Amino acid sequence: MAISIDRVCDCLQILDSLTGRIEMAQAMGTFLLELDTLERAPFVYLVQGQLAPPFRGGETGMSTRLVLRAIGLAVDEAGISLAVPPEKRLEEIGDMGNMAEDVLAGRRGNSLSFLDVFRTLENLALRGGVGSQEEKVRTLANLFLKLSPLSSRFVARFVVGKLRLGVGDATIIDALAYWQGGKSAKDPIENGYNLCSDLGRIATILGEEGLDGVRKLRPSPGYPIRMALCERLSSGEEIFDKIGACAVESKYDGFRCQIHSDGNRVQLFSRNLEETTPMFPEIVEATRTLFGGRTAIFEGEALGYNPETGGYHPFQVTITRKRKHNVKEKSDEIPLKMLVFDLMYLDGESWLDTPFLDRRRKIESLFPTHTFSVDEEETAPAGVFGTSRLIVAEHPSTIDHFFDEVLEEGFEGIIAKRMTGTYTAGSRNFNWIKLKRSYKNALSDTLDLVIIGFYRGKGQRTKLGIGAILTAAYDKEQDRFVSIARIGSGLTENQWISLRAMLEESVLSGKPHSVLSDIAPDYWVEPKFVIRVRADDITRSPQHTCGRRNGTEGYALRFPRITEEPRADKNPFDATTVPEIEDIYRKQKILLARHRSASPREKK
Ligand code: ATP
Repeated sequence: MAISIDRVCDCLQILDSLTGRIEMAQAMGTFLLELDTLERAPFVYLVQGQLAPPFRGGETGMSTRLVLRAIGLAVDEAGISLAVPPEKRLEEIGDMGNMAEDVLAGRRGNSLSFLDVFRTLENLALRGGVGSQEEKVRTLANLFLKLSPLSSRFVARFVVGKLRLGVGDATIIDALAYWQGGKSAKDPIENGYNLCSDLGRIATILGEEGLDGVRKLRPSPGYPIRMALCERLSSGEEIFDKIGACAVESKYDGFRCQIHSDGNRVQLFSRNLEETTPMFPEIVEATRTLFGGRTAIFEGEALGYNPETGGYHPFQVTITRKRKHNVKEKSDEIPLKMLVFDLMYLDGESWLDTPFLDRRRKIESLFPTHTFSVDEEETAPAGVFGTSRLIVAEHPSTIDHFFDEVLEEGFEGIIAKRMTGTYTAGSRNFNWIKLKRSYKNALSDTLDLVIIGFYRGKGQRTKLGIGAILTAAYDKEQDRFVSIARIGSGLTENQWISLRAMLEESVLSGKPHSVLSDIAPDYWVEPKFVIRVRADDITRSPQHTCGRRNGTEGYALRFPRITEEPRADKNPFDATTVPEIEDIYRKQKILLARHRSASPREKK
C-alpha cells in the first residue's frame, strides 16, 4: 500500500530527534523496509533536502516570502483566526516548520500519499515564468490545507530549503547497508554511489535487484563519477619509496571538469559534481566535434588562456569564467584550454579498471597531444583540447627535477601517478600523489575548512559586523563537522563585509545537528561554505572537537588565516577530513624532530 506523507514525516521527526550516526542509519534503514520500490528514491532525496540527486539541482525554489503567503492563504481558507499573522509568528518562533505546525495546529490532514506530495513539490520546482509565483503560492496553500500539522512542519522546512536533518551521504549509505543486511553491504553500496553520485538511484536498484544490481553498475553518461583525489607527500624520494617508477604530470591550478558525452548530449560537471555545462560553451562544442555520436566520460583541468602571452592565466582569473551570465563575452575575453588527464568511459565500455598508462595511451590517441621532455617548456595546445604534460620517472631525482621545472614555469606542483593504478572513484589514495611547493616547509598545504559560525566584531571590526569565523573539518566516520579553529585574519575589510553578507543568509537559530563543537560562536551558520586556510602548525587542544576521541584532546590550528574567499568548487563533504589533519600532524612532528636533530650542526 502506498505510504502516507504522515508516516514519512513521522520518520523525519525521529531522524530529527536523533544525534548519533548509527541510530540515524538504523532508523532510516528500518523505514526503507516499509517503502515500495517507487517510493525509495524520492524518500532518499527528501532526506537530502532535495527533489533529485544534488547534481540535477532540484530545489523547490520558493522564498520565505512566498511560503509565508501560502501559509497565510491556507490559514484564511481553513477559517483559522490568528492572534498574530504568520510573518510575526515566524519572527517569534524562528523556524518556518515550527511556525507552520503552530498556526495550522488542530487540523487532521487528509492522509495524502507521500508520492502525491512529492510530485506536487516537483511541480512547484518545475513551474517558472510569468504568473508562476501566484500559482506556486496557490498550489502550496492547497497542499497545507490537506496536511496534518506535523507534516506541515516538515514540508514547510523542505520548501524553504531548511530541512536539515543532519543526515549526510555517509549516513544514508549506512542506512542502505543496514536495510540490505549490515556492514558487508556497505562496500558495494559505496562503490555504486561513487560511480553515479545518486543515492536515490542506488536505493531503487537495491530494491529491484539487491546488492548484485549495485555490483553490476557501470559508469553512465549523465551521472557524474565521484572524483579520484590525491594523497600528499613531500619529496621525490618519498614518492618513489611509495609507488616506485611512476608517471608525473604538471599540477595545473584551474578547475577540474568531468565531461560526459552520451552520443548526442554533452554535460560538464565540476569538482563538487555540479552541472556547469552552460558556463563553458567552447568545451561543449569541442567535445561535440570530437565525440559526436560516441559515448565518453573523461576529465581534465580547464585553464584560462591568455592569447597575448601564449600562457595560462592564474586561478583567480580562470575562475572568473565560472559564471551563469554574460558567458559569451567572458569566453571571448578569457578563452579556455582543457588539458585532459583521465579517461573513464568510452563507446559503452568502462575504462576505470584499466591501468593508468593504458588509459593515458588511449587519451593520447583521442586528443591532440604534445610530447615533452623534462627540460622542455610547456606550451598551450592550439585548439581547446590538449593533454596534461606527462613524463615517466625511473628515479626519484627525475621527479624532483621535474618538480623544480614546473615551479619555474609558474605551475602549482606535480602529481605523480601509479603507472598501474586504476581510477579510484570517490577516494583519496596513493594512486595519485601531489607534491606542492608548500609541502617543503611548516604546515604542508592549505586546509579546506567549513564555516560553522561567526562572531560579532569587536573594536575596529564592530562596524563590519563580523570579527572572526568558527571553522570545522569533516569527520566522515561520524558524518559530522568538527570544530578546529576560530579565524580572524586573512581578509580585507571589504572581503569581511561580503563574507558576512554571504553568511547572514545561512544563519541558524541554534547549533545544527551536523556540527560537533563545544565552542559556541555568536551565530551558527549552515555548514555549507568551504574556505581555504593556512596555518603555522597543528596543535593539540582540549577546546576543539576535531580528532577528539575517548577523552583525548582535539586538534587546533596555530595562527590560522584565510587565504581565499569561500570556494564554490568544493562542497562541505570535500573539506579536509580528520584523518588528513591527523596525518599532517604526524608529519609535522617528524619534520620537527628532523629539524631539531639537524639544527646543532647548522648552528656551528
Ligand atoms: P588542491 O586543494 O590541492 O587544489 P583538491 O583538494 O581540489 O586539490 P586534490 O586531490 O588535492 O584535490 O588535488 C587534485 C586536483 O588537482 C584535482 O582536483 C585537479 O583539479 C587538479 N589537477 C591539476 N592538474 C592535474 C593533473 N595533471 N592530474 C590530476 N589532477 C590535476
